[in-house]
Amino acid sequence: MTTVAAPLDSLVPKPAIKSLTLDELARHFADQGEPAYRAKQVAVWLYRKRVDSFDAMTDLSAAIRARLAEEFSFVRPEVVRVLGSKDTTRKYLFRLADGNLIESVFIPASPALYGAASDRRTACVSTQVGCAYGCKFCASGLDGFTRNLEPGEIVDQLLAIEAASGETIDNIVFMGMGEPLANLTNLLRAIRIINAPWGLEIGARHITISTSGLAPQIRQLATEPTQFRLAISLHGATDEVRSQIMPVNRKYNLATLLAACADYVAQKKRLMFEYILIAGVNDTDEQAHALARHAARLSAKINLIPYNMVEGLAWSRPSRNRQESFLRILREHGAVATLRREKGHDIDAACGQLRLQTKLRERQPVIL
Ligand code: SAH
Ligand code: SF4
Repeated sequence: MTTVAAPLDSLVPKPAIKSLTLDELARHFADQGEPAYRAKQVAVWLYRKRVDSFDAMTDLSAAIRARLAEEFSFVRPEVVRVLGSKDTTRKYLFRLADGNLIESVFIPASPALYGAASDRRTACVSTQVGCAYGCKFCASGLDGFTRNLEPGEIVDQLLAIEAASGETIDNIVFMGMGEPLANLTNLLRAIRIINAPWGLEIGARHITISTSGLAPQIRQLATEPTQFRLAISLHGATDEVRSQIMPVNRKYNLATLLAACADYVAQKKRLMFEYILIAGVNDTDEQAHALARHAARLSAKINLIPYNMVEGLAWSRPSRNRQESFLRILREHGAVATLRREKGHDIDAACGQLRLQTKLRERQPVIL
């Protein structure tokens, strides 16, 4: 019996069309002797008319469409579950082309999130399948890391939320599953597409990247010309407390992280600290004093977020009184700090949880 090996190029996955910038599309057409405006036509079909196949791009010839389909893939995430209803936070669980699950959250009329005005329609987007950083309190890291998302898969979350909800997103936080700065190349490419006038046209000031503190990448971002916002997940104001809940702190301790933040701020860029309040772990007066001192040195705003319970984890949020005392101490130091006070619904819970529940359920033996 003879086996015929598949041609090599059939084994290499094709790049997703939504991972390309306009310049790259123009280069693709130039290589084929086609005019550059063909790239613009494709972008209009993708990001204005939102078609879901090359065949729908009817002002391109059949031959051009066939060549596009030969070189690029055109996929859409499948909506597996939606939690929430109109006018409230909605969580979407998506299945990617290779079967992996990711989740995104849509928050209409967000309550002044991350420095944005309160009438913003915010999407919280994932950048990886799983997460390698294993913060002890987080659902996304519980099941380890699977892979980086492609730029097109990052962009697709926004397109899919808009298609499913009929709403227009005008604020983005990269606070879904995964560590955005561990997938920096794909992240920056996705941001370019999201930000571009030919793409989703969302202003850089309405895009927030959140990181658990990858110091070298923070330095890299310092030199990026695009003016997006940066949020640092601090969650501990001393090495002792931070290392207890965030293993990344053993690689980049507070001094290293804060030095990278200082370099970032030296480029006339601003950053903010996120600090989840976990009862009995990071909510002492001493932590509040130390946090306020770090923030003062970097002129950083502080967002306090009461911890959202995660199934299977023992952490909980402090009492309302403790949360308010922590905030008061920060303000006594002159820090600009906010405390998220809205009532936590089930689905307000942080990203990663819906996927976790679904995976756990899928693993249960089916009893007939
Ligand atoms: N990996 C990045 C971005 C994704 S997590 C980061 O860590 O910053 C986005 C934010 O959600 C982080 O500040 C993270 O610490 C926080 N978070 C994770 N689990 C949470 C939970 N159960 N309750 C509240 N915030 C949580
Ligand atoms: Fe990863 Fe961020 Fe969760 Fe930490 S908090 S495990 S870095 S997603």
